[in-house]
Amino acid sequence: MRVLVVSDVHANLAALEAVLRDARTGGAIDAVWSLGDCVGYGPQPGDCMSRLNDEGTAFVAGNHERAATGAISVDDFNPDARAAVLWTADCLTADEKASLDAMPETRIEAEHFSLVHGTLRWPIWEYLYSAEAGAAHLGLQETPFGFCGHTHVPAIASLDAGAPGGCDFRGLADGQSVSLDPGTKVVINPGSVGQPRDDDPRASCAIYDSETQSVTLRRVEYDIGSTQRLMEEADLPRWLIERLSEGR
Ligand code: ZN
Repeated sequence: MRVLVVSDVHANLAALEAVLRDARTGGAIDAVWSLGDCVGYGPQPGDCMSRLNDEGTAFVAGNHERAATGAISVDDFNPDARAAVLWTADCLTADEKASLDAMPETRIEAEHFSLVHGTLRWPIWEYLYSAEAGAAHLGLQETPFGFCGHTHVPAIASLDAGAPGGCDFRGLADGQSVSLDPGTKVVINPGSVGQPRDDDPRASCAIYDSETQSVTLRRVEYDIGSTQRLMEEADLPRWLIERLSEGR
């Protein structure tokens, strides 16, 4: 099976369409897994939800799903993020909010993959940005493999007795493939589709291929200007528009 793994789509439909198209250039896609924050920041929350639903996507919730429905308070969001959450909440229908609320915080797919937005220690909020957070997450991960999002930066954490703190944490580059070995617990962050933050504005995602037992990171160009124009029409905060061109 081939699985497209997306995270932090952030209501950016042009970026989402681009990664779906790119994934299919390598063959059929049997599943799509979304690691949270499919809404928030961007101009097309409902369209991204329905596009992902069309693909039969398995979702977990991120902080933006929870904030958009009022399930968590926006007090912990910075002012731009808060403005975007309130705009998103205004756009979404009652049915869309109900389906956001129904998304679990963690799930296991294809038997061996734990999916979560942040970490298994703190599913909605914790950034897996260090070997320490990676070790804590992997200690709680009951499957050999996992995927997380939230940082908007592609990376991998693996249990490694020889590494300081027992965990190796490093970034992942475009085209890089990771071989999955059931004897080594790993968690992989595919980066962000709709708002990358590693100084590369291209959409980021990963493909899991069960035949080769590998995960490959993909960076995909998309029409950034079309999303920015929609954000301008919606009067979304200036920095949220500008950062898409910079990838940060
Ligand atoms: Zn996010």
